[in-house]
Amino acid sequence: NGRKVLVVGGAGYIGSHICKALAARGDTPIVFDNLSSGHEHAVQWGPLHRGDIRNAADIDAAFANHKPDAVIHFAACIEVGEGEIEPLRFWDNNVGGVISLLQAMKRANVNTLVFSSTCATYGEPETLPLTESEPQTPVSVYGRTKLAVETLLSDVSKAEDLSYAALRYFNASGASPDGEIGEEHDPESHLIPNALKAAAGLSGRMKLFGTDYPTRDGTCVRDYIHVSDLAVAHLAALDRLLSGNDSFVCNLGSGTGFTVREILDAVERVTGNPVPCDEHPRRPGDAPTLLADTSTAERLLGFKTVRSTPDLVIGDAWAFHRRVWGLDDNT
Ligand code: UDP
Repeated sequence: NGRKVLVVGGAGYIGSHICKALAARGDTPIVFDNLSSGHEHAVQWGPLHRGDIRNAADIDAAFANHKPDAVIHFAACIEVGEGEIEPLRFWDNNVGGVISLLQAMKRANVNTLVFSSTCATYGEPETLPLTESEPQTPVSVYGRTKLAVETLLSDVSKAEDLSYAALRYFNASGASPDGEIGEEHDPESHLIPNALKAAAGLSGRMKLFGTDYPTRDGTCVRDYIHVSDLAVAHLAALDRLLSGNDSFVCNLGSGTGFTVREILDAVERVTGNPVPCDEHPRRPGDAPTLLADTSTAERLLGFKTVRSTPDLVIGDAWAFHRRVWGLDDNT
């Protein structure tokens, strides 16, 4: 340990948790972020280098100033609906950004990269749980940009000195157990923060998208992985690459699925409040069930989830949001 890691997009939700975990074990996270959606207050464990990966001068300066040993890349457009409306922006940032980053890594002679991919690269899977060899037929612009980067990394690693891990996240959720950092997207589209907001009485009635799926209660099944478990997996992925192992691709999920209604029940249980909600039609692009086969992560990373149960995920998220929303102020 004692390594320097350039965390691109380290001011964002998942990136900031990885920075915290890196620092906790004695590594130095250097955050590179344009703060287009990340938050400066989430950069607490090392320097912030403001810049855009698509700008060669910005990213070269970060490598020159900080001389990192490796890169973890989070910076991407993630809002699935926005991608359908603005595909050029998504391809430019999500794919163009990685091309620019890889060119800068080559110039700086840094050859280790952990990349945030997604289970959205699988589209509507035929076999469950999903193994990494499931065909990848993404149904969104977002998913296609992430798959394109996986292809790019595979091609480059065959010809150049690059070793990479592509980590396909399932539903990242929760907040740091000490309540310090959590999910602060704007706009927020994710189920758990939206349900907490409705339970807190801050947003009116929430929308439940789709009640006619072929699942046990008609709502979508998802695999929720606690962001602090994700952080542990990133450290293990980084260590695996830095100790000379080959590039790899791996799912990161809990291996257990919960329906939207089951999550809403857990939100009611944890908060003690009802979640006012209305049933709406399906949201375009939602697969009925997404569930990870976790055996590759177990085998390659020794990975086991610790906090990825609905009650722990929602309990940590609730504590964080109560603080951010000022709900604890008068108690
Ligand atoms: N969902 C919902 N209402 C919301 C947000 C999400 O019913 O306000 C549903 C969504 O349709 C999906 C599940 O909750 O079935 C998880 O959605 P989320 O956006 O959190 O993650 P995704 O699986 O799309 O990455």
